[in-house]
Amino acid sequence: MNLTVIDHPLTRHYLTVLRDKNTDPQQFRAAAKGLTYSLVFEATRRLPITQIDIETPMESTTGFRIENVVAVPVLRAGLGLLDAVLEMIPDVKVGFAGVARDEETALPLEYYSKLPDLSEATVLICEPMLATGGSLSWAVDKVKGSGATDITALCVVTAPEGVKRMYEDHPDVRIIAAAHDRELDENYYIVPGLGDMGDRLFGTV
Ligand code: URA
Repeated sequence: MNLTVIDHPLTRHYLTVLRDKNTDPQQFRAAAKGLTYSLVFEATRRLPITQIDIETPMESTTGFRIENVVAVPVLRAGLGLLDAVLEMIPDVKVGFAGVARDEETALPLEYYSKLPDLSEATVLICEPMLATGGSLSWAVDKVKGSGATDITALCVVTAPEGVKRMYEDHPDVRIIAAAHDRELDENYYIVPGLGDMGDRLFGTV
């Protein structure tokens, strides 16, 4: 399986804040941002770097620069991870993938897509809740359609069903998560999970 679950005290702390039903939207957004830093650190571990020459105040030395990273938040919950990605990754570009979940079938319904050419890019798809895997698999199809070959998904919580689906549809995609939960309920929500990520981020419960 291509799943890495981050085992770090800060990640666990922020995840607990996100899971707690008494966390309000402002606290929830702050915790999502705090947690995303650790997802980005892990996801960028093998990022290609270019060697450059620089001058320190003392002498010439060699430095490194990262290039061509594109973040793709899956609307709307993926927006909750975007601030931390923008803060951490210099010159990051952002594409958007808008998909709604059909509440009866849980199948993805596309309503918006805006992606740059991704053929040379390292792509970070922000899809916090990997439940059935339908939305993430759809988003990966979209970024591959724009040329992407180096793709990592940033997730907060995954379910076994979603990870299995991704392994079947896109075994080349790495998944970085803060937790791998037990299962989906009858409405395709992750349990124990944290509820509806979009509603909790934006106060639309
Ligand atoms: N989307 C969410 O926001 N939460 C879930 O548990 C599953 C999908």
